[in-house]
Amino acid sequence: MPELPETTVISEDVLSLAGGREVLRAAVFRPDVTNVEPEEFTRRLVGLTLRGTGRRGKIIVLDFGGVVGLIHLVISGRVLRLPEWTEPDLTNTAVLEFEGGVTLSFAKLWLGYFHLYEPGTVDGHPLISRLGPEPFSEDFTQEYLTKALSRKANIKGLLLDQSVVAGLGNIYVDEVLFTAGVHPTRKANTLTPDEVLKVHAASRDILRRAIELRGTTFDSYHDAFGETGKYQHQLLVFDREGEPCPVCGTEIVKLRVAGRGTHVCPHCQPV
Ligand SMILES: [Zn+2]
Repeated sequence: MPELPETTVISEDVLSLAGGREVLRAAVFRPDVTNVEPEEFTRRLVGLTLRGTGRRGKIIVLDFGGVVGLIHLVISGRVLRLPEWTEPDLTNTAVLEFEGGVTLSFAKLWLGYFHLYEPGTVDGHPLISRLGPEPFSEDFTQEYLTKALSRKANIKGLLLDQSVVAGLGNIYVDEVLFTAGVHPTRKANTLTPDEVLKVHAASRDILRRAIELRGTTFDSYHDAFGETGKYQHQLLVFDREGEPCPVCGTEIVKLRVAGRGTHVCPHCQPV
């Protein structure tokens, strides 16, 4: 699933491809992919210009001035450039043609969506309204994180919880906890102040580097230019079960924590 870095990259790609361009055609394949009737999806977007793009948690935000598009790729979704206008189908779930020959497919939104919201109402979106602070925002302070982690739940589950911090997912949480030397099953309220500080710093550091390397590709993720990310080559523990820990050489093990496959160095991350 695209996490914060991948969503950031795609959002910036869409801006570079279609920013400042008017929508000439827009259509959606299935009514359940959006929150308006398919005819309305077309009517509300055509004639508008893409003014900017952004991201909230793992949701791509497209600012069309009078309308805001909210796109959640969930697991399989992708944004890709098509050579020409194509009617939406099972693969190309929603298609937008912009002036200047730029056609974008919001593809494989099988579990995701392309919602249209009025400007100023985005915070009321059911997913966005529950988001915690963005990792790069001023609100994501060490004090905030200390308070958010003062609970008995395991640390991995809390970091995956989008209401604690927005945008982290399974891959980056494993990397953050390894870097911080914290075992994912630890109760969050047992972390020392120094460990909380390390989790805070590692979150920002790892996400920033992952954005620079244009995200992590395992299977489906590609940027809007069809290229894979490069951060998968930098991963220290994720998907490295059975390999030696890059720090101490101990074999990396895979556990199930918070319902997710979880990668741990038993030596660097003591229980
Ligand atoms: Zn180790």
